[in-house]
Amino acid sequence: MKNTLLKRFFRYVKMDTQSQEGVTDQFPSTEKQKKLARILVQELKEVGCKDAVMDTYGYVMATCKSNVSNKARGAIPVIGFLAHMDTSPDVSGKNVKPMVHKNYQGGDIPLLGDSTQIITVKDNPELKKYLGKDIITSDGTTLLGADDKAGIAEIITMLQYLQEHPEVKHGDLKIGFTPDEEIGRGTEHFDLKKFKADYAYTVDGGKAGEVENETFNASLAEISVRGKNIHPGYAQGKLVNSIKIISDIIHKMQNLSAPETTEKRKGYLHPYQLQGGVEKSTVKILLRDFEPKGIKKKTDQLKKICASLQKKYPRAKINCTIKEQYQNMHVILDKEPRVTEYALQAVEQSGLKPKLQYVRGGTDGARLSYKGLLTPNLFTGGMNFHSKTEWIPLPAMEKAVETLVNLVKIWGERK
Ligand SMILES: [Zn+2]
Repeated sequence: MKNTLLKRFFRYVKMDTQSQEGVTDQFPSTEKQKKLARILVQELKEVGCKDAVMDTYGYVMATCKSNVSNKARGAIPVIGFLAHMDTSPDVSGKNVKPMVHKNYQGGDIPLLGDSTQIITVKDNPELKKYLGKDIITSDGTTLLGADDKAGIAEIITMLQYLQEHPEVKHGDLKIGFTPDEEIGRGTEHFDLKKFKADYAYTVDGGKAGEVENETFNASLAEISVRGKNIHPGYAQGKLVNSIKIISDIIHKMQNLSAPETTEKRKGYLHPYQLQGGVEKSTVKILLRDFEPKGIKKKTDQLKKICASLQKKYPRAKINCTIKEQYQNMHVILDKEPRVTEYALQAVEQSGLKPKLQYVRGGTDGARLSYKGLLTPNLFTGGMNFHSKTEWIPLPAMEKAVETLVNLVKIWGERK
C-alpha cells in the first residue's frame, strides 16, 4: 500500500495544475487542470467507482457503492470525500521534481535545486517526529503540491484498500475532486444535488491528527466614493476629489485590528483592493472574525467610519455595502456533532492524537457547510503549503489513509 500511495502521489504532483487568479472567461481558470481530472476518472474506475465522470467545469465525481445489504444500506448516511486538484498561483507547479529523503536522520534539509531553500528544524519542529522516516519534498525550485494532491492520493488509496478488503463494511461513498480551490472558486459550480452526500469531509488539512472544524465568519465590504470632476484650472469650490476621501476612510482604519497585527483567534479588517480616480474611487475590504459578535462589531465600525466621513464631505456620495460571504463552519457543524466526533475517533483509532483546529481563512468545506453539506477538513500530513519548502512525511500520508478507512468503518457501524 505504501508504494502505491507514493507512486500515485508522485504521478499527480508531476502534472502542472496551477490555477490562475483573475480569469473570468473560462472555468476552470486553467485548462491543464482537466488533464489531471481525466486521469483521476480513469483511476477511480480502476478502484471500483464505475460511474466516475468529469463534467464540463472539470469537476470529477464518483460513487463507491456500498457493500452491505440493501436493507442495511438505507440506514447508513452517504459520506462524501473531497480534495482539490489545482495548486497555488503563488509558486510555480511546473516540472515538479518530487524526492524522497529516506530514513531522515535529523537536522535541516537542504533542497538540491536551489541552495537558498532549506527546510530548517527551527522553523519546522514537527520534523523531529519523523526521525528514521521518509520525508518528501520538491527540489526547491517549485512547490511540492501535497496541497492537495496528497489528499487526492490518500482518498484513492483508501478506495483501493476498500476494494481489496470487502470485510470492511460501508455505505455509499461519494468522491469529488474540485478545480480552482486556490483562487477561492472551488465550489462555484459544484453540483450538490448531483453529489448527493449526507455529510462530507475535505482532505486538505496539514499536520497529522488535525481535524479542522472552525473557520472565520467572513464578510466583504465594498466602499465607493463618488466625487465631482472639474478641470483643475477652474475647480475652486466645485471639485470633489474621491481619491482623497477614500484615503481618509482607509486612514481611519489604521487603528483597527489588521491581519498584520493579529494572530490565532483574533479577527481583522483588511483592505485589499483599491481603485480610484477623481470622479469615483472604490475599496474592497475583508472582514474576518471567529465570533458572530466580532464580525458584527467590525461591520458596525466600518459603517460608522463611512457615516462620519459622509458628514465631513457632504458633497461626495459615500456608499458602503457589506455582504456575508460565509459563516464559521463550527456554528453549522454543531447541528450534527457526529460529523466531527467520528472524525476525531477515526484519527484516534489510527494511533494519532486527534486535535481540533481552526483555520484563519475559508475552506471549500466552509462554503459547502454554508450551503447545507456539513464538511469539516481532515489532515493530509503536509506542511508549509504554498511554498518551495513544502514537505510531507510518507508515514503521515499512510496515517491519513488509515484514518479515512476508519472513518468509513465508523459510519458503517454506528450509522
Ligand atoms: Zn488546499
